[in-house]
Amino acid sequence: MPKWEDNVRKVIPYTPGEQPKISNIIKLNTNENPYPPSPLVKEAIDMSDGDILRKYPDPSSAVLVEAIARHYGVAPERVFVGVGSDDVLAMCFITFFASGRPILFPDITYSFYDVWADLFRIPYETKKLDEDFRIINRDYYPENGGIIIANPNAPTGVLKPLDEVEDIVRHNTDVVVIVDEAYIDFEEGEDGKIPADSALNILDKYENLLVVNTFSKSRSLAGMRIGFAIGSPDMIRYLNDAKYSFNSYTMNRTAIAAGAAAVEDQAYFARHLGMIKATRRRIGKELRELGFSFNDSQSNFLFVTHRSVPAKELFTALHEAKIIVRYFDKPRIDNYLRITIGTDEEMDTLVAFLKEYLRDR
Ligand SMILES: *Cc1c(COP(=O)(O)O)cnc(C)c1O
Repeated sequence: MPKWEDNVRKVIPYTPGEQPKISNIIKLNTNENPYPPSPLVKEAIDMSDGDILRKYPDPSSAVLVEAIARHYGVAPERVFVGVGSDDVLAMCFITFFASGRPILFPDITYSFYDVWADLFRIPYETKKLDEDFRIINRDYYPENGGIIIANPNAPTGVLKPLDEVEDIVRHNTDVVVIVDEAYIDFEEGEDGKIPADSALNILDKYENLLVVNTFSKSRSLAGMRIGFAIGSPDMIRYLNDAKYSFNSYTMNRTAIAAGAAAVEDQAYFARHLGMIKATRRRIGKELRELGFSFNDSQSNFLFVTHRSVPAKELFTALHEAKIIVRYFDKPRIDNYLRITIGTDEEMDTLVAFLKEYLRDR
């Protein structure tokens, strides 16, 4: 190795799901929303005078911050926005996990957490989920440098009841606890309302709690890259200090306008969440009849295992049939497939293929 390479920061990057270049595939591998965003989004991206591209954006993204604050009924000082929740979470890791003590998160969870920890030299310990992929609360009681959990968890789809989340927050008031709620909008309940198990419901009680969410899944804007965090004004100030020390203009003008418009269209949001939940219930039943089992999912995907056919084999067969799902070649989950809930038509094609395949098998 040449000498200069000794001085390089070396990281093993996160591996995102495949984004195939070919068309006419059924893409159920990265939990994108199968429906387009609200029509208000297209209207908001006004290209007529070129200003939206020519001018620098508002570094505070005020229009978007205020729209999110209004939607959740919180003060704008409690909202931070970023380029997807990946950017928001990376800022959180840099900002809040600086103690030098190990941070804690589950062994099976969003696989970006350990990547950021490594990148930012943050020590961490993973805690084993139980046999049913549930978080064991007492694992999170010992002294630590901070905690991050995804709820519902990825890639399992398992939702942790709010009282159990609160128990973790209450046992850790001297560190920041981050709840990544990328999938919470898909929880069963009244469509488009703040879900019953969202940690937003207990935010006023805990200064050390930060809730992160994204427009990528429930608001059909993965391509726009919009994420946000809601917490105490002090926390948000610390996050903004880190952000402005890095890049003043993270959110571009199209993203700010598109995000604000998406939040305004509450009726559209509620209707499409309802459609995805209905498809999830229907397809869940069909998959069980085909011999699949899975935990109850409160997300826009199902994490399934088959009673006799290995997941890897099914993944390959589906791939050849141009149906792309996600397979993780990792301990404990290497016999599972994560299948995004697509449109009814897409899911019917998936079920028809599996029916055929499993009959010949
Ligand atoms: C998808 C996802 C994110 C990141 O979403 P962005 O597209 O970066 O907003 C964060 N956390 C979890 C658990 C996710 O599944």
